[in-house]
Amino acid sequence: MPETIFSKILSGEIPCHKVYEDARVLAFLDINPLAFGHTLVIPKEPAPTMDALSEESAAALGAVLPRLCRAVMEVSGCRHYNLLQNNGAPAHQAVFHVHFHIIPKPSSDEGLGIGWPAGSLEDGAALAERLRNALGA
Ligand code: AMP
Repeated sequence: MPETIFSKILSGEIPCHKVYEDARVLAFLDINPLAFGHTLVIPKEPAPTMDALSEESAAALGAVLPRLCRAVMEVSGCRHYNLLQNNGAPAHQAVFHVHFHIIPKPSSDEGLGIGWPAGSLEDGAALAERLRNALGA
């Protein structure tokens, strides 16, 4: 995988404000926070998007995310937050190394703003079956 800003952070080539580290995961402050306490959580495995990540790294991220969310809540004083994970440039991914954003939501005007152009589900049974087939379930 090509180098990214996050692989350079992992190698120590560029600095970060570290919040948490274990054998598979690193968390650090976002350099351009959407809100006070905005934290990034990344696997050490160099996967560009979530679909390319190993189950071991995904499990390690999932195991620590609730703790990190609680710490961000405590320090930011926010009861509400968004957990965001972008995949692909059209989906607003700028750094092609998997990462979760923990973004405090101090008020409806602050933090992450989301467009949510909801439709209505057509033929959910067939779609769910296609997805089950894709999963090999
Ligand atoms: P995304 O659009 O989901 O790829 O988000 C990438 C995030 O990385 C943005 O929120 C940036 O502010 C953040 N970012 C970029 N460079 C750095 C850096 N050197 N240290 C910390 N955060 C960074």
